[in-house]
Order: sequence, then structure tokens, then C-alpha cells
Amino acid sequence: MQESHIPAETDVEAIVPGLLAWYEREARALPWRAPPRAKQDAYKVWLSEIMLQQTTVKAVAPRYIDFLRRWPDVNALARAELGEVLAAWAGLGYYARARNLHACAQEVAGALDGTFPDTEAGLRKLPGIGAYTAAAIAAIAFGRRATPVDGNIERVVARLFAVETPLPAAKGEIKALAESLTPETRAGDFAQSLMDLGATICTPRRPACGLCPARPECRGFAQGIAEQLPYKEEKAPRPTRRGVAFVVRRADGAVLLRERHPKGMLGGMLEVPATSWDSKEWEQALSGTEAVARSAPVEAAWQEVLGRVEHTFTHFHLELSVCYAEVPKKAVPKETAEPARCRWLMIEELPRAALPTVMRKVLAHALEAKRPSRLKTQAAKRRASPAPRSANRRSA
Ligand code: SF4
Repeated sequence: MQESHIPAETDVEAIVPGLLAWYEREARALPWRAPPRAKQDAYKVWLSEIMLQQTTVKAVAPRYIDFLRRWPDVNALARAELGEVLAAWAGLGYYARARNLHACAQEVAGALDGTFPDTEAGLRKLPGIGAYTAAAIAAIAFGRRATPVDGNIERVVARLFAVETPLPAAKGEIKALAESLTPETRAGDFAQSLMDLGATICTPRRPACGLCPARPECRGFAQGIAEQLPYKEEKAPRPTRRGVAFVVRRADGAVLLRERHPKGMLGGMLEVPATSWDSKEWEQALSGTEAVARSAPVEAAWQEVLGRVEHTFTHFHLELSVCYAEVPKKAVPKETAEPARCRWLMIEELPRAALPTVMRKVLAHALEAKRPSRLKTQAAKRRASPAPRSANRRSA
């Protein structure tokens, strides 16, 4: 028999007005937000939702303000060069989002005359807009009854209904439960109330149930399992890939960079020329002077920089060894480095360049390590013990 303090069912009717009233009082002031009960411009909702995928509110806020200042509407963004957009996006990670952002702006500004579709189905036809983003725009910008479900909302709903099926198998069940909560009117405010509850009170660890407007109806709280929910199936550990990056500095101070191929990971961004990241090439490149010479983008006296650069992407962990060289001003990239994609950039230009975080780490690691004690020749390296790992570790 169920204990008397555990609600037999989650009372949907009671949750919605309580959360809407709480949202009116406590809504977070965010740069992309309209006040409760007001609809927001679709461009602002779209831009912020794309930026917020896999990225924190704190990291996004200043970048969103900068984007909006440079490109105040979808037509302005469509007119921008892709390289400018990628450069403005640098550091936010997941660069396919920036490419899709630009492609989507061009489609809306062109074929759709500058107006976003006002339905989930219409929005989902646009580049880079998936189920979550379409529902968020439809609800927040157009007042449609739509249910965006991201990680925060997934957690809140799993707890409210005490869903014990582990993720990802529980996704469908949680989505259906979230839809059962969504009101006919003010779906945008309701979605944002769940986002705010997940971000500020129903947090992954130590949820502040004492402050929660939904506590009387929360089955996870009543059953004493809220903090453990949602359960998750164990993930396979991330594999580690390795490579060697070559930082070369010309006599006038310029650094050699290369544009990555437009399709694929970090597509269209700039990179420090490097070996591939998933082959034995890196071992060969570090195994002796000749192998370095073969893999390097320019003929030079290469030295290995002590330590490694580490970076974690969604699906793998990357360890890069770094070689450094200085060359005369007339140096040119070798054919194997694909000179058409190479360019020399002055150090002062690097902050505005479309460089992903991992490449900024590589450059910082090499340029800061110019002290002779942190460089070793290939001959010295062969005598030395394995290089210590850099402490320079951060998530994507
Ligand atoms: Fe989350 Fe606790 Fe509120 Fe339930 S009562 S929704 S677990 S904060």
C-alpha cells in the first residue's frame, strides 16, 4: 500500500498554475528574454536557443549581446560572410551550429522574405533547427502549444513524475509527460518556467525542494528519490585520439594557419596544421627528425614543446603534442600542407580569427613555451623520459 504522503498521481492541473505564478515572480532576467506574458521576437529566440545548445547561459550572454549588436536581425546575419560568423562564434564550440546558423539566416532572409515560420513543422525544415529548438521558438515567439524538452526540462519532468526508466530509454516517456503538462495558452512562459526551475532550483545535485513551487505535487520528492533522478544508463568511456600540431612562426611574427575543409568537424574553421588525429601518424611524427620533416607543413628545424594539449570533445578526448619552429619571412608551406588552404596571420589578428578553442590552446601552449627550457630537440627528446601532460585541460 502507498504511504499517505506520496501522491498517487502527479496532479498536472495543480502544477501548471503554480509554476506560471512562480515564473511571473522569479523569471531570470536574460538578454534574450521578454518579460512574462510577452511574446519574444523569433530571431532572438532562435539565436539564443542555438547558442545555448551545449553551452552555459553565462558563456552565451556576452556573445549573444555581441551577435545582436553586429547582426540585429536575420537579414543582417544573412548578409554576413560565413568567416565573420565563425570568428564571432569562436570559443562557443560545436561549430556546425554556426554554419547552420548562417545557412538558416540565408534561407529565412531569402526564400522566406525575412520571416520565420510560426509552426514547429515549418521551423524544422530550416538548417540546424531540431525538435527542441522548433518547439522553443513556436512556444516562446509564436505562442503555439509546443513542448521543448532539453536536459533541464527532462530532469524536472523525470522528478515530478518519478520516472524510474533510465535515460536514454526514458526520453519518449518524459516527452509525453512534458506534453501532458503543457497548457493551451502561455506555453512559452510555461516552457521557460521549467527551464528556470531546472537551472535554479531543481538542479542536478542537491535540488532545493524547499523552495520549489511544485513540491506538493512532486512524486520524486515524495518518494525521496528526486536527487538520483533521472537515472542514466552507463556510457561507454570516450576514446582518446592523438596527433601532432605544428606551430610555425615567420620572422615578421606571423603564424601559419590552415582552413579546415568545410564539411565535417570544425568545418571551415582555422587550424594549426597538424597530423590526422586518429592514426599512428603522430607516433611516427614524434619518432625522429625525418618523420617530423615529412609531416610538418614547412621545412624548418622543428622542436617539440614539452607537455601536451588536451581537449575533450563530445565523442572523444584529444591529446596533441606540439612542435614549434621559426622560419624566414620567405618560407612557404609545402605541397603536402595544401598551400591553397594556408594563410599567415599576425599574432594581433588571432583574437578575431575563426579559431576553435582547441587551436587557441595549441597556440598558447607553443607561443608561451618559447623559453628554450621548454623546447627540446628531436635528439634530446629521444634521450628524455616521456613528456609530462599539460594541465591545460578543459571540456569542449
Ligand atoms: Fe525538483 Fe524538488 Fe521541485 Fe521535485 S520538489 S521538481 S525534485 S526541486
